[in-house]
Amino acid sequence: RAKTSGRGTAAFFDAQMDLEARERRRLEADLRQAIAREQLRIVYQPLVATAGARVTGYEALLRWDHPERGAVSPSEFIPIAEDTGTILGIGEWVLRQACREAAQWVEPLTLAVNVSPVQFQMANLEDVVVSAVEDAGLDPARLELEITETALLKERDRTIAVLNALKARGIRVVMDDFGTGYSSLSNLQSFPFDKIKIDRSFIQAMESDEAARSIIRAIIGIGRSLAMPVVAEGVETDAQRAMVEQEGCPQAQGFFFGMPGLGPLSRLAEMVENEAELKLAANG
Ligand code: C2E
Ligand code: MG
Ligand code: MG
Ligand code: MG
Repeated sequence: RAKTSGRGTAAFFDAQMDLEARERRRLEADLRQAIAREQLRIVYQPLVATAGARVTGYEALLRWDHPERGAVSPSEFIPIAEDTGTILGIGEWVLRQACREAAQWVEPLTLAVNVSPVQFQMANLEDVVVSAVEDAGLDPARLELEITETALLKERDRTIAVLNALKARGIRVVMDDFGTGYSSLSNLQSFPFDKIKIDRSFIQAMESDEAARSIIRAIIGIGRSLAMPVVAEGVETDAQRAMVEQEGCPQAQGFFFGMPGLGPLSRLAEMVENEAELKLAANG
């Protein structure tokens, strides 16, 4: 009896795994078509200077509108794109699109683009970035590339060389989600980052957890001595905003300041449109 039920359970799990594998293969195939079918779009989330809460730039974040599933989160589809190599095409598309849009923004606004560790393994990441910037006519000094720590685990020397080559072109490099990966501190020592983005898990814990606040303080201290300003991500409340400003984060990002959405150009166009509609309505 035990044997039968064991077999039954195994069969059930087999079927379940089969289903999941098939689902996954379908998502992979759909993702391969997503650019051509115009299902990908980019939203922009503001980064602000904590002093005065002035917008200094925007981070480009990918969105996938799947025809049947609706919105698929990047935390779900980016790993798939990375496993299958689709991220190379997608990553280049994001860079090109976002640079073209940012070239239209008012001059000092910066653009941050996330770059996958897999993109660092290609031979020509530098060329891809430089050609996106040049074709868009974007000042490279306005571009920041955000890289998570996992990018640094493989081929350290090559990654350092690529980062330095990008920096030599005036492009800035930012360590993203700092504090969640491995060997964080030695990474700061070896890699030429211009900025550190502290992971939002620390920001979200800091109000209730003195330890989280101490860690933030320590990271800011290290950043200061390495000339790497620390940016707070995931600021959701005014209390968190006040705390990160008080601790000395020159920049912050989070739902409190703005959700990912239209870029400044489209936002302006929408406002003008709404105003025109209001006038029409008032006149008519
Ligand atoms: P990330 O680069 O750390 O981006 C920040 C994520 O936190 C975004 O999620 C953003 O919507 C979310 N977020 C911002 N402020 C808040 C807040 O106050 N509270 C909370 N709870 N969340 C906040 P999103 O857009 O879902 O992206 C998730 C991750 O997917 C990104 O994390 C990034 O690692 C990756 N990703 C997104 N777009 C791209 C892309 O174009 N290329 C690559 N390689 N990765 C991307
Ligand atoms: Mg990021
Ligand atoms: Mg981040
Ligand atoms: Mg993150």
